[in-house]
Amino acid sequence: MPCGTAGTVKAVPQDILEELGAQIILGNTYHLYLRPGHEIVRNLGGLHRFMSWERALLTDSGGFQVFSLSGLRKVTEQGVHFRSHLDGTSHLFTPERSIEIQIALGADIIMAFDECTEHPAERSRVRESMEMTLRWARRSKVYFESHKNEVPWAEKWNSEFPNTEQNTEIQLKPGPGTGQPGPTQALFGIVQGGMHADLRRESAERTVEMGFAGYAIGGLSVGEPRAQTLEMIAAALEVLPLDRPRYVMGVGYPDEIVQYAAMGVDMMDCVLPTRAARHGLLFTSEGRLNIKNLRFAQDLGPLDPQCGCKVCARYSRAYLRHLFVSREPLAGALNTLHNLRFYLDTMRAVRHAISLGDFSGTLLGRVSMT
Ligand SMILES: [Zn+2]
Repeated sequence: MPCGTAGTVKAVPQDILEELGAQIILGNTYHLYLRPGHEIVRNLGGLHRFMSWERALLTDSGGFQVFSLSGLRKVTEQGVHFRSHLDGTSHLFTPERSIEIQIALGADIIMAFDECTEHPAERSRVRESMEMTLRWARRSKVYFESHKNEVPWAEKWNSEFPNTEQNTEIQLKPGPGTGQPGPTQALFGIVQGGMHADLRRESAERTVEMGFAGYAIGGLSVGEPRAQTLEMIAAALEVLPLDRPRYVMGVGYPDEIVQYAAMGVDMMDCVLPTRAARHGLLFTSEGRLNIKNLRFAQDLGPLDPQCGCKVCARYSRAYLRHLFVSREPLAGALNTLHNLRFYLDTMRAVRHAISLGDFSGTLLGRVSMT
């Protein structure tokens, strides 16, 4: 899932995202709450309509962003007090408030409010944090269950798909552009537990007991070695049900997302393809390259000869390097377009391999070189 932090995948217009085949993108609750404000988005019909994106959307709970504001935040049982990075004003996110905001934004998938445990942390601290995430998950769910019909597009949906005798169950109505059930949102729970496999399993078990539409594994890719990331994902996957989406948050490099998919992960998001692109780091079938490197100054070849994207079809490495070192805005746009295509192609290859019933072997081999 490409990250569309503030209602935009930076530097990429929505029609290009559609062309690239993005099926779902992320929005960040923290950013949209501060600017333009969730009530404005609600009044405009929700985030889909506001940003003109008919495909699926997922919003995070805002938790991860506020936890990243070290020094500007204070965590209590009630929630997280924080100061805006924009103007220093004080705010409070609680599980109830996070869900209220996410309902107003109206994404198809919304996330329970959790605490992303810092790393490294003592075991006792990890348990304490995990227990609070479980209590917050329950509060998130309770609030969601009693407010889930307040989603901004519910009214429009009900008028387009009126309740008839044949259609009294809301589950029979299609979701917004996704073919999924509507007209409400899907709330996902989040597994925490730091770098302790047993706590990960326990967190997963107790989150599943509460019953969510899908399950995320959070608090990874926070500086731990990759072997540990794999171990934590494996521990949670042992417990998470196969018939619900399983989502690892905030990962990873192209070879990592293939590996996680091979383990049974269904969804992933990462700022890496878009953020790296803006810094000139490009992912190709021949490995990573840094476009500002002098060796590309007179290279008329395409960025990636294997890539079918518009950028690789039209522009040379020399031109892309020139745009980047000249700090032309087009550099960010073109680099992002290519990186997103590379990531989305990678996942398309994964889905294709799964449909052919041949996954872990050949495909892992093909992508691991990146
Ligand atoms: Zn390309």
